[in-house]
Amino acid sequence: MSDLPERISVREVGPRDGLQNEDPVPTEAKIELIDRLSATGVQRIEAVSFVRPEAIPQMADADEVWRGIERAPSVRYSALVPNLRGARRALDRGVTEIEAVVSASDTHNRKNVNRSTGESLDDIAVVIDEAHQRGATCQVIVSTAWGCPYEGDVPVERVVRTAGRAVADGADCISFGDTTGMATPRRVRDLVGAFRSAHPDVALNLHFHNTRGTGLANVLAALELGVWDFDASVGGLGGCPYAPGATGNIATEELVHMVEDMGVATGIDLAAMIDAAADAERIIGRRLPSQVLRAGPRTRIIQA
Ligand code: ZN
Repeated sequence: MSDLPERISVREVGPRDGLQNEDPVPTEAKIELIDRLSATGVQRIEAVSFVRPEAIPQMADADEVWRGIERAPSVRYSALVPNLRGARRALDRGVTEIEAVVSASDTHNRKNVNRSTGESLDDIAVVIDEAHQRGATCQVIVSTAWGCPYEGDVPVERVVRTAGRAVADGADCISFGDTTGMATPRRVRDLVGAFRSAHPDVALNLHFHNTRGTGLANVLAALELGVWDFDASVGGLGGCPYAPGATGNIATEELVHMVEDMGVATGIDLAAMIDAAADAERIIGRRLPSQVLRAGPRTRIIQA
């Protein structure tokens, strides 16, 4: 395990990706959760999404949340934007890191935004320019990178080509999202390997779901390839939009629990993250899928 990265950067996506896929919760509870997460040592938090409230009611209070959170100096807060209008809204509110999404699957992209992947990439090129002109960075998230609910497997070449177009248009980082939980370690190696060969110097983030139980195995495969930037969601907040009741995002505390034991630093205080997961569970009012939240860390001692 000696050539694993010494440390990884974790982006906590529970407040945005997680809560967007749960029943709406009060603004105050969101702010409280983000503030709580800010104190765990995590260095990045995807806080909100600036979308039309009619499109995603869960994010209707993005302005209030963005205004209301107490910013920790050690944390970078980002926002997801659906289009140029959302990007301008975010940039007007002082967001310095935005994320734009495109699906590698044409069918999925059309179902989501009624445009082809190519058309979305055209739009994103403008979003990237706007962000750069205003001193912000723009990450491009390529979703359905390991499979599409409508098309099944998405060819690696198509995913790399989609990402490559965003890179050519100036994306500051590429994220591959396993939107449907179809990734396995072998498929992680295939895609990361192909992307690295084509774009060895481009920053890469990976976003895994644990829908089929391979979430942390995929992280391990990626670590062994030297990937050091991962998304995770406190408590495993956020279900799978394509399989009601199924698990979505990998849980942050499970990621921290595994990699720290392998000597890979995250900067995150595991106990604090488990407490935040318990909070998230209270806020959401349903049992979250995180197993580390249930069982505690492996070193937990029971009074004999
Ligand atoms: Zn997700």
